[in-house]
Amino acid sequence: MTDLDGRVCLVTGAARGIGAAYARALHATGARVVIADILDDAGEDLAADLGEGALYAHLDVTDEDQWAAAVEASIATFGTVDVLVNNAGIANAAPIEHLSTAKWDAVIAVNLTGTFFGCRAVVPVMKQQGRGSIINISSVEGMRGSPGLHGYTAAKFGVRGLSQSLAVELGASGIRVNSVHPGFIRTQMTTRIDPAHLEIPLGRPGEPEDLAGTIVFLASDASSFTSGAEFVVDGGMIA
Ligand code: NAD
Repeated sequence: MTDLDGRVCLVTGAARGIGAAYARALHATGARVVIADILDDAGEDLAADLGEGALYAHLDVTDEDQWAAAVEASIATFGTVDVLVNNAGIANAAPIEHLSTAKWDAVIAVNLTGTFFGCRAVVPVMKQQGRGSIINISSVEGMRGSPGLHGYTAAKFGVRGLSQSLAVELGASGIRVNSVHPGFIRTQMTTRIDPAHLEIPLGRPGEPEDLAGTIVFLASDASSFTSGAEFVVDGGMIA
């Protein structure tokens, strides 16, 4: 039921971190994957490592023209886009008085506007084929407030809201839209945070691979009646 059987999955921010774990897991489950990122060397290395059924596409998610090119590259190589994982993200932190407009704009542009651009770019393709799964990566910070994370929190709440409105609008076209809310996961994004200060009921910080099962499930027919849902994957941290 979770065999992806040649489905075409475009994953943004897939050159490293959690996105790379998504790309590896989807590929291992039978999908063809488009690894989209701004880190060309790492993205090309990952595509080469995965081999057949993997393609690297340079994509800055804040650039509408690059989105069009990435979707075209997916269609040219694999015929379509069945699954979009909007994973690319950046984080910055500052108390509100010191949060610069540039930092605010950057975190909204990548996390929220990039997700909007991605959804808008793939929906015509998915509508034409009468099916699709969009997986938007939010955060536990899209469900609660945390000091200093104002732009990131606003963007991740926005991703959650966008997923809800799209799920309602696109259901009749056979397109499912869900959001995923990771907790603390050890990647380059979180190197400066010491997980020892966090209360995680499962007793350890998350690893990128801890998200893979949720993504494979949402990409596959095992989740064919799941849309507009919010999946918290945090070891129980915000329970
Ligand atoms: P990471 O920094 O290791 O990886 C982020 C990836 O996004 C990188 O490959 C980077 O090059 C790419 N990226 C950044 N800006 C981009 C742009 N403009 N266009 C295309 N790609 C771009 O971070 P991560 O921890 O793997 O985070 C992945 C996603 O998971 C992010 O959306 C993040 O907000 C979310 N998340 C992470 C955690 C965590 O604890 N690590 C928790 C909750 C949510």
